[in-house]
Amino acid sequence: MICPKRTTELLEQFLEPFKDKDPAWEIGVSKIAGRGVFTTRNIKRGEVIFRDMPLLIGPAARKEDTLNSCSVCFKLLPDTKFMCRQGCGLPICNLCQKKKQHKADCALFKSWEPCEPEVANSLIIRLLCPARAINCTKEQRDLMYCLQATLDNNHRTEVRNAAKCFRKFPTDKKLIDIMNRAVAVLRTNGFDETSDRTNDNQEFFYRALFPLFALVNHDCVPNSYYTFEEKTNNMIVRASVDIPSGTEITTTYTKLFTGNIARHLFLKMKKTFTCKCQRCSDPTEKGAFISAVYCRDTNCPGLAVPEVTGMPQPNWNCLECKQKSPHAPMSKAQDLAVGAINAKTNSNSLKTLIQYIKEKSSSFIPESNYCIIDAKLQVISRLSKSLEDCGEESAGTKAQFCQDILDIMDKLGLGDCVMRTYLETEKAK
Ligand SMILES: [Zn+2]
Ligand SMILES: [Zn+2]
Ligand SMILES: [Zn+2]
Ligand SMILES: [Zn+2]
Repeated sequence: MICPKRTTELLEQFLEPFKDKDPAWEIGVSKIAGRGVFTTRNIKRGEVIFRDMPLLIGPAARKEDTLNSCSVCFKLLPDTKFMCRQGCGLPICNLCQKKKQHKADCALFKSWEPCEPEVANSLIIRLLCPARAINCTKEQRDLMYCLQATLDNNHRTEVRNAAKCFRKFPTDKKLIDIMNRAVAVLRTNGFDETSDRTNDNQEFFYRALFPLFALVNHDCVPNSYYTFEEKTNNMIVRASVDIPSGTEITTTYTKLFTGNIARHLFLKMKKTFTCKCQRCSDPTEKGAFISAVYCRDTNCPGLAVPEVTGMPQPNWNCLECKQKSPHAPMSKAQDLAVGAINAKTNSNSLKTLIQYIKEKSSSFIPESNYCIIDAKLQVISRLSKSLEDCGEESAGTKAQFCQDILDIMDKLGLGDCVMRTYLETEKAK
């Protein structure tokens, strides 16, 4: 682990343009993992804790994406003739064609000679983000090297595959190492498809590395949330709740509404750590019962929850009759409920789905279960687009479903976040 003090210095230098004379944060040694970001004074709910800007940013250009968005401003372009006419192999808008950023990108990629520069190639476009590390200043690159990177067997694949799309791809080991390192850092703590930071109802069309945010550790009930400034892509991190001085700032790498078992598995597989936060240590998830299913004993009205063991297939306990059950039948009950709800979501009118959630589903799955939360979020989203006619009560239904989810968020202790703003707005509409 690189010394927290050196990390703070590099970050302060990088974030210098914000002219924040009295930062409310510092880097310290975390109880959760490695280094973490800590408050240096009391912060009120809603207050800005820090702003961050991308050290690296570029188009996501995933296989399923359309590739016609500008490689500098990410604006969607017409579906034909959107490639740079200079032959760099990048999509570019008329305005950004003349910008300094594209001139640097263009010179770099042109010197490598893309095999088919007029054809949009996701491997080339996706490489832009890590390749931009080559033109970083020494200080910026030091900062990148100071961030955590999972240097596993796969992290070299991306550059290796993209190399085949150029005639004169560099063979200089130092350049290749910079790009491989950037890929590994992006995958570990950036916004990238493999790191899956698409939590809290936000989607990303680019891949990016925000270096200060990269040091924020995970908690399943985070005390901060982030939004982005329009136009600049700068990130603003705010307090979700009142945070005392000296507290570690946390964010969430998982979706807010998944149960203990699913979150544990996700964090273990993708982030290779075991979360020991309050929510994860409590089988009831702070009384929100997001994983709960009904007791196997049909005469018992109790809820059964999975034991906190960190294992993928724990036993379940009924909180009423105390009966212990193995994992298999309980997860089967959960899977059946998910299947039944999905069938209604996919094949029926919105009206039928609403009726099903209101009248039928509670006979086989508790209302607090995540599959009901997901179904309600679907209904809210569909009603807000109001493409379907669902009768006069639809406004009331939407407000009710929003409130149901807000109540669950309150139980979890989730303060302000993008999801809360969304639900409160939809509820009031
Ligand atoms: Zn542009
Ligand atoms: Zn160009
Ligand atoms: Zn947790
Ligand atoms: Zn029971």
